[in-house]
Amino acid sequence: MLIKAKEKIEKDYDVVVIGSGLAGMTAANKLAKNGRSVLLLEAHNKLGGFATWFYRANKKHVFDVSLHGFPFGMKKTCRKYWNKEIADHIVQLKSVKFINPQYEIESLFTKEDFTEKLVDHFGVERETVQSFYDYIENMNFYDDQSMTNGELFEKFFPGRNDIARFLMEPIVYANGSTLEDPAITYGIVFSNFMKKGVFTFKGGTDHLIKMMQDELLKNGVDIKKHAPVDQILIENGKTSGVVVKGQTVRAKSVVSNANLRTTIFKLAGKENFNTDYVNKAKEVRMNSSSCQVYFGLKEGETIPFIGDLIFTSTHPKFDTEALLSKEITSRTFSVYYPEGRPYDKDEKYAIVSSTNANWEDWANLSEDEYKAEKEKMIKETIDCLEGFLPGIGQKIDFVDAATPLTVKKYTRHEGGSSFGTKFEGLDVSMNMHKEVSGLFHAGSVGIIMSGWLGAANYGVIQSNEVESWLYQLEKENQQTNLATKENNARV
Ligand SMILES: Cc1cc2nc3c(=O)[nH]c(=O)nc-3n(C[C@H](O)[C@H](O)[C@H](O)COP(=O)(O)OP(=O)(O)OC[C@H]3O[C@@H](n4cnc5c(N)ncnc54)[C@H](O)[C@@H]3O)c2cc1C
Repeated sequence: MLIKAKEKIEKDYDVVVIGSGLAGMTAANKLAKNGRSVLLLEAHNKLGGFATWFYRANKKHVFDVSLHGFPFGMKKTCRKYWNKEIADHIVQLKSVKFINPQYEIESLFTKEDFTEKLVDHFGVERETVQSFYDYIENMNFYDDQSMTNGELFEKFFPGRNDIARFLMEPIVYANGSTLEDPAITYGIVFSNFMKKGVFTFKGGTDHLIKMMQDELLKNGVDIKKHAPVDQILIENGKTSGVVVKGQTVRAKSVVSNANLRTTIFKLAGKENFNTDYVNKAKEVRMNSSSCQVYFGLKEGETIPFIGDLIFTSTHPKFDTEALLSKEITSRTFSVYYPEGRPYDKDEKYAIVSSTNANWEDWANLSEDEYKAEKEKMIKETIDCLEGFLPGIGQKIDFVDAATPLTVKKYTRHEGGSSFGTKFEGLDVSMNMHKEVSGLFHAGSVGIIMSGWLGAANYGVIQSNEVESWLYQLEKENQQTNLATKENNARV
């Protein structure tokens, strides 16, 4: 049931899910399919979290915020935990391009194609490429976490900054990781992409989220939008529900899809966790943020097929700091053609440029400086686009831009983080229910649990934890009831 903004929530639940990002929604859907009563509360006026879109100019244009690409695994996850129709809309991107001073390459972004490029273009021995793939494919979460991405590339391709760029730059865009992050985060995510290439949702994010909302309602999830949760109720080390817009809602368990640190320090309160855990949570670093520039083309204007995803940079070498700098040299363009992203009946094209960014560079500007920086970013992005799409400036009908402040405004993530927390957040997130009975976290953490696939899969993992916890609770309640009955019978 969709509960209207002004309506009161009338009942108690097995589970309240705070936030409808892909992790929150997938957890809610799976628990409801298992027969649990679930309430999904979303602060925003639509579901999806970062998996979002917006209309502009009287709905003449639609823009997707994070539909650039994800691994094939998303198709399997959607088929298993959502439905076949959603899974069937997931299709492969035809062309991923790289344009920078070190190389210009077009690829399918698969292991086979990357192997050929590494051998033929970069001149690496085939055995070395094979041993690199063997190494990363065998990486798993329980491995030694001390090796960094930088060390991994040095081990297999010493002194080859161009190869590190080729292998790493797309993953920096996929989850914000850097050369200093643990190599296992890179290995797991890169191997996921290399299995079959990069995929997208044909039809756009609005269509996907509509289908997901329908599925949630079909499975009996109660959904309330415009419902920012103020507090997670905790009594005697156990959660008992939430307070949303002043109303108390009782639940046996709570899954928070809100930012990890916000969940601990603002919604739950640090006094409810032990000191070691709080200290660990304080050390968790947020991931980087993003800027985007959105271009809608005039009605009737077309562009040739120039690739689906184009990683561009004017920086001479691969350099993590340069990737995040406000003096932008690196942009990833997602091009939405009418066939892949049908919208209304018109033939519509849209282009979205994404750049990783530092929160601090944007957060402390005056209003005038902020406006000027946004305009500069838009102008420079058009200039960059003209480099491989001459004349595009004349075809553009609508332009808008987003900065880390926009990301924070819409998703409430500390520091406008696009990909949740760095690796250390995973441990804190996974152990939350060991600190407060019945309280779980599912959302972008630890690099590997972020992105569309990582977040959705983490929702599944945490819903299994909730399920075992509810089962245990029921068993304990049955035993208590039995003991009470036996006592009463004796009396
Ligand atoms: C610019 C950009 C581009 C990206 N591109 C890609 C891409 O191409 N491919 C890819 O796989 N990933 C991409 N990502 C990352 C991906 O979108 C996210 O990792 C993923 O969608 C996050 O899901 P999540 O479950 O962690 O929740 P989030 O999306 O973070 O959603 C959390 C939800 O909780 C709600 N919420 C928070 N606090 C409360 C509260 N107190 N009460 C109620 N509701 C609350 C928020 O409103 C939000 O809806 C991109 C991200 C960004 C920013």
